[in-house]
Amino acid sequence: MINKCKVTIAGAGLGGLAAAACLLLDGHEVEIYEQAPQLGEVGAGIQVSANAMHVIRYLGLGDEIARQAVRPEAYTFCMADTGEVVQSFELSEAHEKAHGAPYYHVHRADLHEILAAKVESLRPGCIKLNHRLSGYDEDADGVTAVFANGARVKSDVLVGADGLKSVVRAQMKGADNPIYTGDLAWRVMVPAAPLREHFPRIQQTLWMSGGGHAVSYFVRNAELLNFVGIVEKEKASEESWTLRRPWEEFKADFAGWNPAVQALIDSVDNDACYVWALHIREPVPDWSTARVTLLGDAIHATLPYLAQGAAMAMEDGAVLMRALRQSEDIAGALALYERNRFERTARVVRESSANGKLFHHRSRQAILDAFSKRDMGAERSSWLFNYNPLLVELN
Ligand SMILES: Cc1cc2nc3c(=O)[nH]c(=O)nc-3n(C[C@H](O)[C@H](O)[C@H](O)COP(=O)(O)OP(=O)(O)OC[C@H]3O[C@@H](n4cnc5c(N)ncnc54)[C@H](O)[C@@H]3O)c2cc1C
Repeated sequence: MINKCKVTIAGAGLGGLAAAACLLLDGHEVEIYEQAPQLGEVGAGIQVSANAMHVIRYLGLGDEIARQAVRPEAYTFCMADTGEVVQSFELSEAHEKAHGAPYYHVHRADLHEILAAKVESLRPGCIKLNHRLSGYDEDADGVTAVFANGARVKSDVLVGADGLKSVVRAQMKGADNPIYTGDLAWRVMVPAAPLREHFPRIQQTLWMSGGGHAVSYFVRNAELLNFVGIVEKEKASEESWTLRRPWEEFKADFAGWNPAVQALIDSVDNDACYVWALHIREPVPDWSTARVTLLGDAIHATLPYLAQGAAMAMEDGAVLMRALRQSEDIAGALALYERNRFERTARVVRESSANGKLFHHRSRQAILDAFSKRDMGAERSSWLFNYNPLLVELN
């Protein structure tokens, strides 16, 4: 067992914060370096299934999340034009009973704030802002994180939790660009009350249409309705992957969709329509050296079509903590961590991309046929939701 080591984490996203909190609880000396001048997350929702809730509960944050989250009744797949229900599986009690933790819909900013507060309570001052990692020097004694502002920080371990454009990954595995998937995501959040006649159930709805799909669900005690609408399109800009676009373009992208979606789009603030160009990375092994490793989007960025990117990042943190606990030396711990994360995270990337093909199929009949042969709830329960990163055997 590695008792106490000095850990530098690059990136204070959901993955970096969850990992920091796990490692701090085990007595490691952790510092997180974040490039941004202030902490925060985008104004959007996030789904947190039982596999990730185990980590949140382990950190003692289950009740706090529950106070702000929405526990959806069901997950329902519909045709986007008619609203016809294709399949639905229960989430609320059924999910918690089967997997030992609830399925929640949460506002990202709430989750991020709760995790950051936990980290700060465990080690005040451990999150350093305005520190953009530019590279690292590794030798047999340790690893030195080098920052654009001139700071150099030596520690026993460096964790790259620095997201899709990870500097740590680029240095370790060579600079390459994440792959644009051809899918753009419109993300909006609107007051829920005026739309309740169109969205009467507290559930997650996934709308499918040729060449696109969308997801809607409630957050923040059901006061807000979150909508992510995906369309296949050219990337709007090479430089920026997140862009404000005209409301009229948003409306046109979902022309012909059912009245509930139209009402939602009509209620959106015209100046608050943003698109994200969705990128992935093909799963590759060997993401650790003797002193440096990666987690979250930095190494296994996925399409969000299983809603598991952040969940994987949070699982990573818990498994990394346990791998350090279980190993005699740091290199062995990082190898154990990676060995136990590669297959699972690669499967999430693969299956999320496959979902994109299914949800966007041009043939309505093909969608209906595929759903008639598959039970989405049972499938996901059999390998995705039933994983507990705090208990799964590591070998
Ligand atoms: C439309 C959409 C919907 C999604 N829905 C879900 C969902 O419902 N459930 C789910 O689990 N996942 C979902 N995801 C995926 C999820 O958002 C990501 O997988 C997750 O946020 C990744 O977390 P991370 O901490 O690895 O990376 P990030 O959130 O990208 O955080 C990286 C952090 O590192 C910082 N950073 C970057 N470079 C440097 C540097 N050089 N030095 C210092 N700091 C640096 C960044 O500023 C940032 O704070 C969704 C994604 C999208 C696009």
